[in-house]
Amino acid sequence: MFYDTIAAIATASGIGGVAIIRMSGNQALTIASRIFRPVGKTPVAEFEPYRMYPGDIDCGSFSDFGMCVFFQAPKSYTGEDVVELHCHGGVNITRAVLRSCLRCGARLAERGEFTKRAFLNGKMSLSAAEGIGDMINGESEAEVKAGYLLYHEKLSKKVKALQDEFTGMLAGIDAAIDYPEEDIEEEKIGDIEKSLRQAEAEEASLLSLYKTGKKIKSGVTVALCGKPNTGKSSLLNALLGYEKAIVSDIAGTTRDAVEGSIEIDGVRFHLYDTAGIRESADKIEAIGITKAERIVRSADLVIFVCDAREVDEADAVVLESVKDKPLIRVMNKIDRDRDHIDSDADVYTSALTGEGLERLKAKMKEMSVSSYAEDSAFLIEERHYAALERGHKFTVSALEKCGVMPLEILALDIKDAWDALGEITGETATEAIIGEIFSKFCVGK
Ligand code: GDP
Repeated sequence: MFYDTIAAIATASGIGGVAIIRMSGNQALTIASRIFRPVGKTPVAEFEPYRMYPGDIDCGSFSDFGMCVFFQAPKSYTGEDVVELHCHGGVNITRAVLRSCLRCGARLAERGEFTKRAFLNGKMSLSAAEGIGDMINGESEAEVKAGYLLYHEKLSKKVKALQDEFTGMLAGIDAAIDYPEEDIEEEKIGDIEKSLRQAEAEEASLLSLYKTGKKIKSGVTVALCGKPNTGKSSLLNALLGYEKAIVSDIAGTTRDAVEGSIEIDGVRFHLYDTAGIRESADKIEAIGITKAERIVRSADLVIFVCDAREVDEADAVVLESVKDKPLIRVMNKIDRDRDHIDSDADVYTSALTGEGLERLKAKMKEMSVSSYAEDSAFLIEERHYAALERGHKFTVSALEKCGVMPLEILALDIKDAWDALGEITGETATEAIIGEIFSKFCVGK
């Protein structure tokens, strides 16, 4: 519990129907009673919690008519007494209400301070607080959904269960050390080894989800490849729904990588068109080729485009250069020639008529984030991944020592694994880590 009361504008700055000024701390209701004049007979100090009261808000040189609601500790967002003043959403009104709060004893909140207090008061884990950040800042629907799962403690519950397993192992080791004469060590080692194996597998399975989580957070990078004139730029434009890449009949005109982003079922895809990967004497074209190769190398997914009428050796050369990547083979221009369709293709499209584009999009989603179960915990934050990876290393190290080293030595690794996981929930996170996380929030959250 903190002894000062913080205040901030909780809604976005700008003009809107309503704006909310929020206070949190012991004095929230007292300060509100100095600013708010309720319409009814109930004085502010006797407000029933979680009920909206209409009244005048003192804005200094003028008043606004609005609402006041009191959230009583500990049943509030921060775990402290919280008061919200709802005023008309004008910039000057909102600022004036905030000034009134500050004049009457509140302190201006720092970035993320409401959520930081919620965490420090035990209302949520650190990963849940980060989930709120992901929801607010999420650039795609999938990222917002993933943030919501974090906020609902899906990850921290899994992590806590793992920590409980480690705690159980440590208790077992303590017992074995305390009663050496009972010859329980041998049996204990077997139990611990079994538990460690289980924990290691759970950690590894969570870690493997980060591949998908990262794509959900940052988007999936897709490179469109193929020999010149197969319709890569046209396909990109058709996917994006507007003219972005330069379309031309002259082979090799797409000199640079052209970027655009689309959302498929809430997941962001960044599309890169590449100049045809092929030998070229043209210097500018050659630079484009190097860039194209770099793009392919870093892409999560490659869309390899052929012209349905002209499948030849040149296609095979390009295919050879991208065959190690997750690949979708697209046969384009099927509006022209349906008799020469290569049966090896995954999707048949016409960038001109739009045929096959929905199938292509579905394939793109399936190939990149298929392991993504929408309602279970997974990793989207690099910080969580790093902590879990460290925890996993200690678990593996403990496993290797099982039956080889004394139990006391094993216990050190198990304790380190517990601590590493504690960084995710916040139990063992340092002040610096906590400060860094909340500094990314906006004031008022
Ligand atoms: P890129 O070099 O692979 O990027 O190919 P472009 O997108 O520049 O297309 C080359 C030519 O093929 C252009 O004249 C396009 O209009 C044409 N084209 C592209 N896709 C299709 C398609 O699906 N059907 C038909 N009939 N023409 C297409």
